[in-house]
Amino acid sequence: MTTIIDGKAIAADVRAKIAQAVTAMQSRHNVQPALAVVLVGDDPASHVYVRNKGIATEKAGMKSIEHRLPVDAAEEDVVSLVRDLNADDTVDGILVQLPLPGHISSSRVINEIDPDKDVDGLTEVNAGRLILGKEGLVPCTPQGSVIMAKTVRPNLSGLNAVVVGRSILVGKPLSMLLLAENCTVTMAHSRTADLPAVCREADILCAAVGIPRLVKGDWVKKGAIVIDVGINRIEEQGKTRLVGDVDFDAAKENASAITPVPGGVGPMTIACLLRNTVVAAARRRGLGAVD
Ligand code: NDP
Repeated sequence: MTTIIDGKAIAADVRAKIAQAVTAMQSRHNVQPALAVVLVGDDPASHVYVRNKGIATEKAGMKSIEHRLPVDAAEEDVVSLVRDLNADDTVDGILVQLPLPGHISSSRVINEIDPDKDVDGLTEVNAGRLILGKEGLVPCTPQGSVIMAKTVRPNLSGLNAVVVGRSILVGKPLSMLLLAENCTVTMAHSRTADLPAVCREADILCAAVGIPRLVKGDWVKKGAIVIDVGINRIEEQGKTRLVGDVDFDAAKENASAITPVPGGVGPMTIACLLRNTVVAAARRRGLGAVD
């Protein structure tokens, strides 16, 4: 029997734990963690994401702060807002919603965020900490992917992990997290020779590519755990559907466990953002570890 790894249920579990940690912080230390989100411009998808993050933050008992800037805001205005949020002691987490309008350097703005408030884990400092194995804030989607894999196999040590995709947002940090779990990690990408053969070596196969159903069923080793990060919108039989980077129906015939799309890694991303906010609040304020 193949286990379908239920991202919604696991995310609900993470969120419940976060809500408990927030309640404890409030009653013991009179602290309410706060997440500030910066949104520049009118991108409709970004507005939806920011609204959802705000709702989830408040549901977890935290304070949600939104800063909206017009599409023609100058880079200096965004940088200056980020610096103000860095200096504001009541703000524990800062998230700049990407993409930013083309005239603004995302890299500059992101790296202005205080690394200890960088709840997306995207600053160079946090990327460096991850590589060096130091305590930092870890990008949400890769963090969620590993949590999901560990629900079916708590100890990943010694397993062959293949991560298809080497983006800064997903593939690279995911590879580092799997390495930290003592997996033997292969990072595959668009120039990988014989990708199907590389994938067939995987005990844990992670796909973060952005190509619908790139990974075929016969690329999956019998008994492998498959984590599908891809979210692709396709037209099929006259309907718009969300599908992953893995051919789910075929892959589940070989996998021992697999994440669906939708309802897999997706819900974990916001849950891990909330987790990072609580972790940041606890560390900044010296309140001890968060489970
Ligand atoms: P990027 O476009 O930044 O990176 C894609 C990676 O896939 C690149 O490293 C690229 O290789 C590699 N790639 C492209 N084509 C192939 C191919 N034919 N064979 C092997 N590798 C290939 O994407 P992201 O990492 O940002 O996102 C990946 C997917 O994950 C997307 O579907 C995105 O929507 C989804 N996503 C989901 C999230 C969630 O919450 N669940 C969050 C973030 C992303 P190269 O480096 O050589 O170009």
